[in-house]
This record gives sequence, structure tokens and C-alpha cells, in this order.
Amino acid sequence: MDVEALARWYGRNARDLPWRRTTDPWAILLSEVLLQQTQVARGIEYWRRLLDRFPTVTSMAEAEVDEVMHLWQGAGYYARGRRLHALSVEVCAPGGPWGGDLPSPSTCDDVVAGFQSLPGIGPYTAAAVASIAHEVPAAVVDGNVRRVVARQTATLKPTAGDVTSLAQAWMDDAHGRNVPPSVWNQAVMELGATVCTPRAPRCSDCPVQQGCLARDHASGPTAFPAPAKRRVITERLVALVDVDAQGRPHLVQRPSEARFGGLWGPRYLDANDAAVVDECGRRTKAGDVVHLLSHRRLEVEVWAGQTEHGVDPANKAISTLDERVLHLAKGA
Ligand code: SF4
Repeated sequence: MDVEALARWYGRNARDLPWRRTTDPWAILLSEVLLQQTQVARGIEYWRRLLDRFPTVTSMAEAEVDEVMHLWQGAGYYARGRRLHALSVEVCAPGGPWGGDLPSPSTCDDVVAGFQSLPGIGPYTAAAVASIAHEVPAAVVDGNVRRVVARQTATLKPTAGDVTSLAQAWMDDAHGRNVPPSVWNQAVMELGATVCTPRAPRCSDCPVQQGCLARDHASGPTAFPAPAKRRVITERLVALVDVDAQGRPHLVQRPSEARFGGLWGPRYLDANDAAVVDECGRRTKAGDVVHLLSHRRLEVEVWAGQTEHGVDPANKAISTLDERVLHLAKGA
């Protein structure tokens, strides 16, 4: 891999993303947490929204988790918002080890390990923030990097260890040639996101096509890596939407360990639960909602009924699924 060619290419072709114009570790951390499971365009919207309200880690620590979840609404994978709030509380805990500052070379010997000790931070995010905000030469490994590694080496099923080793060897090579770690990590990810894409890699535009073993492989570059088998589990649920005379639904807050934990929504039952027959007998069926998560297909029967006291859903953090469920019940 010609690391200097890739670094030069990145200098000319990097997308202009707002978090690339800052070295503030908090702003970078926020972008990395958001981008894990959110498309870039939506990520920008949520990043701005969250940073406007929480410009520092302290400002989030001082807020209620409900407010964070309210702003996170619609971004999906809500556990991320809850864990980010827990991280801010831990960093700002009076008498705690961090004293209100995120890990940095001036506060800990091993910045990557420091980040990984915080709630919700795995190896990817720790390496990303440490390298981008502090120029720590720790290689990131995400789906884009894994694909580039698999194609450069024409490996069908690279192990996590193989990918990490090669990614770190590239980082060390680049660092030794004075390519900043922030540039190197973002260059490999950018190549995977924009040129070495899953279905239509643009090999003729690729700055590291020389020496790429997948490029002229008989199976073609898209054979690498071999697609992972995804098992999607179907869950059948019943949502009970009871509405008061003002049209406001009865909502409950989901326990933090549950799916959509911390968010509000109508009561749900497992469709196989014996209580369903009794509960639904007093309600009218409003329709069905099918909602897809990464590894789950949720089939939800929506039943509408009445209650004395509802709440205004506009003041609560609600998942996209429950917004759809409430909308369907409203029309019943
Ligand atoms: S030459 Fe093609 S397959 Fe190889 S890294 Fe570049 S874009 Fe990917």
C-alpha cells in the first residue's frame, strides 16, 4: 500500500464535513458516536443539534438524560444517547478521575485506553477520537477499513486480528512518513466510503490500485470480503394505544435496559402473551406496522382504546416506531 499516495489523495478529495474543521475532542466524539449507525447527511443534522445544546461535555452532564434522548429522537440506536450522557456524567463526576476533561495526552498515559474505560466507548471510537483530536497513532477499524484490507489482500474472510494488524501496520508506515494519524485514519475510511465502496468500487480512480490484489482478481473486487450471513429475527408484538378525551395517548417510559430504553411509548405485549386476548377485547384494531431494525423485523398489531389521562407526545422522546404506531392509532 502506497500510504503517501493515499494521504495525498485524501488531501485533494476529502469531503467537507463540519467535524473535520475542529479539533475539539468533544465535538469529534459526538460525531463518531453519531456516525456509527447514522447516515452522514442525518449525522450532520443531529451533530449540529446536539452541539448547539451541549457545546461541552459539562453541559451534557448537567442536563437530564431525558433531554438528551429528546434531541436524539429519530437518530435511532438510542442506547448511544443514553451512554453518551452516562459518559458525560462520569467524566464530570466530582472527585472522579477525569475532573471534567475527556482523556487527553495531558491527563492520561494511554489516551485510547482512557476513552475505552468510559461508558459506550469501544475500540473504534477510542482510536478515532484519540487519533483525530490528539494525533495518537492508533489505527481505526470499521466496516470501510475492513473492506479495504480485504480487497488489498484479496482475503475472503479476514479475521478481526488480521484486519487490526494490517491497519496498524499501515498506520505505523504512514506515521513514519510524517502523515498525521488524523489524516491517515480518515483517509482509509474515506477511501472505503467513497471509492472502494461495497457494490461498485471505482478501481480506476483509486489512489492505491497498484498492488491491490482484488482489483484484477478473477472473482472481481466485490467478491472481497465474502458477505456476512445476516439472520433477521421476526418479533410479533401488540401495541396498546389508549387515548384520552383530548386525543393524548397514555405513554410509559421504557426501562433503560429495554429496546428503545429511556424513550416513551405505548404499552406493548408479546403477541403470544395470554393477556393479549383480554387486553385487545376492550379495544379496536387500528392496523399493523412493520418496522425494520438492523437484525430484527418487528410486526406490530396496533389496538386503540380509551384512558382518562394521556400526555402530550410532543414533550416526550419517542422512537420512530412509536411515532408510526401513535399516528396509526390516531386515525382509528
Ligand atoms: S483498487 Fe479497487 S478494490 Fe482495490 S482498494 Fe482500490 S477501489 Fe478497492
